[in-house]
Amino acid sequence: MKSKCTPIVGLLIMLFMISGTAQNNKVLIIGIDGTRPDALLNANTPNIDDLWQKGAYSFKAKTDEISSSGICWTGMMTGVWHDKHNVTTNAYKNPNVTEYPHFFRRYKQFDAASKRYSIVHWAPLHKILQEGDATDALNVKSDVAVSEKAVTRLQEEDVDVLFVHLDDVDHAGHSKGFGAKKPSYLTAIEQADIHVGEIIAGLKSRPNYKDENWLVLVSTDHGGSDFGHGKDIPEHTTIFYIASGKDAVKGEIKEQVNVIDIAVTALHHLGVERKDEWNLDGVVRGISE
Ligand SMILES: [Zn+2]
Repeated sequence: MKSKCTPIVGLLIMLFMISGTAQNNKVLIIGIDGTRPDALLNANTPNIDDLWQKGAYSFKAKTDEISSSGICWTGMMTGVWHDKHNVTTNAYKNPNVTEYPHFFRRYKQFDAASKRYSIVHWAPLHKILQEGDATDALNVKSDVAVSEKAVTRLQEEDVDVLFVHLDDVDHAGHSKGFGAKKPSYLTAIEQADIHVGEIIAGLKSRPNYKDENWLVLVSTDHGGSDFGHGKDIPEHTTIFYIASGKDAVKGEIKEQVNVIDIAVTALHHLGVERKDEWNLDGVVRGISE
């Protein structure tokens, strides 16, 4: 009797382990608008440093050649460049969300019960979201509110993927100047780092945190120079990319990382099998395939 049961029990345990693993893989993406990597490295950012120093990182990553917010955030959320997602200005005229939806929709199609949250300080970012893509998409008026809402969600909700967007660094760049050594810009980055610390503390205080396998991705949409951005020049198109968590391959990522890799890496960690017909441009970076 025992010999007949054992393989079945073994199979059940294996199936439980496989399904348990998939369910426990979760993703937090923190997007810090308009943050130059050289300024990030010059600022005092202990919370962000902790993530990249223990994880995978690139400070030579690239964003879309049209380095404006709407274009770049859409690339990050869809995994394709602007020639496919069709957002070419911040007016978001005719985004091709049918062929190239927000990655939340692909995750929903894979797991309808998944919980997908987005909290942003710059409301247009949500223009590519279609009905039902997000479990909840929240627009708030300050980075403080983004951080507070994110912490509440993480502590109180069943979350599988959470995207949060901080905007004050970009505001500082536009009003006081973008640059590797601009004091106001660095101060804003340091304030964003405090919010990152709050959000990570909220993540770690989740009741089941020890049983969950979180991938934390931190990046930005573009850099800047003088008082703006939008051009195809290194000061505007060079961004940073951090992948932190148990599955991160520690150290500097040798390959070129692009903003479009973020949706693809997130989907991979969430267990979603990519299909060729999706025609995605991004690849998995910073975690093993
Ligand atoms: Zn921006």
